[in-house]
Amino acid sequence: MTHRSALPEAAALFDHMADAVYLIDPATSAIVWGNRAAWAMLGLSREDVLDHSVLSLQMDVTGMPQWSEIAGVIRAQPCFTFVGRHRHADGHEIHVEVNTTHFSLGGREYFLSVARDVRRRLALEKDMQSRESQLWFALNEAADGLWDWEIATGQLFFSPQMKRMLGYSPDEMAGVLATWSDALHPDDRDRVMGILQEHLDGKRGRYEAEYRLRNRNGRYLWVHDRGRVCERDGRGAPTRAVGMLQDITERKELQLRLERLASSDALTGLPNRRQGERFLEAELELCRRLGLPLGVCFFDVDHFKRVNDDFGHLVGDAVLKQVAEQAQVSIRRSDLVCRWGGEEFVIISPNSNRAQLLQVADKVRRAVMALPDEPRVTVSLGVSAFPEDGDDIAALLRVADDALYRAKAEGRNRVA
Ligand code: GH3
Ligand code: MG
Ligand code: MG
Repeated sequence: MTHRSALPEAAALFDHMADAVYLIDPATSAIVWGNRAAWAMLGLSREDVLDHSVLSLQMDVTGMPQWSEIAGVIRAQPCFTFVGRHRHADGHEIHVEVNTTHFSLGGREYFLSVARDVRRRLALEKDMQSRESQLWFALNEAADGLWDWEIATGQLFFSPQMKRMLGYSPDEMAGVLATWSDALHPDDRDRVMGILQEHLDGKRGRYEAEYRLRNRNGRYLWVHDRGRVCERDGRGAPTRAVGMLQDITERKELQLRLERLASSDALTGLPNRRQGERFLEAELELCRRLGLPLGVCFFDVDHFKRVNDDFGHLVGDAVLKQVAEQAQVSIRRSDLVCRWGGEEFVIISPNSNRAQLLQVADKVRRAVMALPDEPRVTVSLGVSAFPEDGDDIAALLRVADDALYRAKAEGRNRVA
């Protein structure tokens, strides 16, 4: 009985299958039956294929010793999958994925192979890969640096651009997380790591932070860093994240400078009047709530017009800076001194009663008087205290200003 006659008529159904099906005699490797696709895919006729060794189809497999090895592997598992190349009649190769099972029928052993042409799938995959690398390239051009973090292994890829941004050559910067985290500014590290962890934990849609990163020379650059988990394992745990980095040093430094300018006085570096008013408002509210006193001290440089007239405006400026410095070092840490305008300053001293504030005021007066440089100047100061002298900002400022006026009238270089 031949193998062929043993097959039922229903086998004709297989001629309608898109995949090639081969029935193989494991002992000889001969193809004992096949469907239409089995010959058509190879550009051959039924006669060309039947009773020939299945090895003749392969481009990579050669002799019988190899076949017995292959047969052993096929027998060892329920389904053996192999991706290889079949040879077409006209010489070109066909990439196939072959799934082979083994079974017995009528006391004989058979291998059943189903071969699928995977050229299209492979081409698509290749296309995807090249598209991914093109995308990667485009991103690289848009950003100052890219990173690709394999979370499970801790491997962190830094793009050459990122290395260049930080002053490193392409073969420097070990590709591990610590390379990055060690370069984070100590004041930024906890915040940034916290944001990253929240993203990994799924509490944030994406990771985004502005922070300082140390470059090769030890200088800190401001960077805008953003990224996202792009791969997860079966249980949803993140396994890969990618992101990009932008050097924002210039913009950030300008922004910080503007912020300082907006709240501080350009000449003395002290907080400006707006800042002082805000502070007074907030602190008065707090002291009122807690039942604590609060002191306000207005002070003004004596005969300052003369300094300008006699020594010029630049010297006048230098004097104002020195006076500001003396005030700054004379107050307590919780106090605030601001430049109210011109040569007038205001000290706000939360949780100070009148007696304590008078002491602070006199300390400022003596500190200014002790300045060694010419032209020597003095200041007059007037204080007011919450709650005795007033309940709101306007009243406190008015009382302090009145006191200052009295100090001037009584001869200057004094506290009233
Ligand atoms: P008094 O003892 O009564 O305070 O006399 P004074 O001369 O200090 O008083 P006045 O308010 O008449 O003069 C203040 C002067 O301070 C006038 C103004 O030109 C000068 N001035 C205000 N702001 C600045 C500044 O930023 N730089 C300099 N150099 N001078 C300033
Ligand atoms: Mg004045
Ligand atoms: Mg003055």
